[in-house]
Amino acid sequence: MQTMGNIKVTKATTSKRASVDFSNLSFGKHFTDHMLVAEYSNGSWQTPEIVPYGPISFDPSMATIHYGQSIFEGIKAYRLKSGVEAIFRPYDNFKRFNKSASRMEMPSVPEEIFIGGMKQLLQVDAAWIPEEYDHSLYVRPFMFATDEVIGVNPSTTYKFMIILSPVGPYYAAPMKIYVEEFYVRAVPGGVGFAKTSGNYAASLHPAAVAKKRGYDQILWTDAHEHKYVQECGTMNVFFVIGDKFITPGLESGTILEGVTRDSVIAVANDMGKVVEEREISVDELVDAYKAGLLTEAFGAGTAATIAKIAELRYKDFVMEFDPGKMPLADEIKSILTAIRDGIAPDPRGWMLSIQG
Ligand SMILES: *Cc1c(COP(=O)(O)O)cnc(C)c1O
Repeated sequence: MQTMGNIKVTKATTSKRASVDFSNLSFGKHFTDHMLVAEYSNGSWQTPEIVPYGPISFDPSMATIHYGQSIFEGIKAYRLKSGVEAIFRPYDNFKRFNKSASRMEMPSVPEEIFIGGMKQLLQVDAAWIPEEYDHSLYVRPFMFATDEVIGVNPSTTYKFMIILSPVGPYYAAPMKIYVEEFYVRAVPGGVGFAKTSGNYAASLHPAAVAKKRGYDQILWTDAHEHKYVQECGTMNVFFVIGDKFITPGLESGTILEGVTRDSVIAVANDMGKVVEEREISVDELVDAYKAGLLTEAFGAGTAATIAKIAELRYKDFVMEFDPGKMPLADEIKSILTAIRDGIAPDPRGWMLSIQG
């Protein structure tokens, strides 16, 4: 995997860094000085290049715009207390990216481009990795089809790119959500497990309807019966019932296999908690709530890490939670944040140094 030396680097003549206010970063608005670009053609990946960040041009017939062969990832890089710059679990995102690619009939991206390219890009823009607590450099790898033809076929050419955006702590206000009983996010056999652009496009209207009704997000349910819980907006979802954590299982292929989800499970296990990955019906949640056993509910994803649920509505029944009384969610969030800032032990080697 040490073919990083192959990557051609063209440095920007000036840096934008001084013009960015790191104490007041809004999510995904600022980008660093460089980006990585790799082209796929004639059945193979060409050597990636690191170039100054900037617009790319394309033909109006470019396949992605019409048929949506497009996938992405979201990862964070941190400056540890020791000064080392490190990426949180990028190999998990790498594997997931290629699962998404396969489902969308796109070529897989080799490790030396995805991981090696990411490390080298982060080295070039290392000055952008914030050192403040809970700040990070958000890494956005993505791939899209570039054939210039409006016939419905898998593209024969693709672009893989990585861009970087400094982000501050994500203040996730406790969410007001309702159980969605009309729209669906994913079906068995569909693309719910893939991180593909169209899933996001399809979620925008149901989310806008939720906003109009005064809610922040939707709790997605299964497409057949609207009976079983899937995800909360674009986050995985966890419930604490009695002494157990419960989160939907991955078997149906309708759940995005979140890296944060997996991290929450690992940390909860370290805390001696039982975590059940299985089907959860909304009725089970209601019964547990009525019995006083459902005490915590939260979403899990890279952007916010953990976003608490303050209100969950199912038909006319409203379940309320006190975000100030979710000790397990708080403990997990603080352990994960501490690992990512290098102030807690990292027994699983989740942090990958950007060097070497
Ligand atoms: C990206 C994503 C998540 C969270 O995954 P992480 O790896 O934890 O960031 C959850 N659900 C959906 C639909 C997603 O796209």
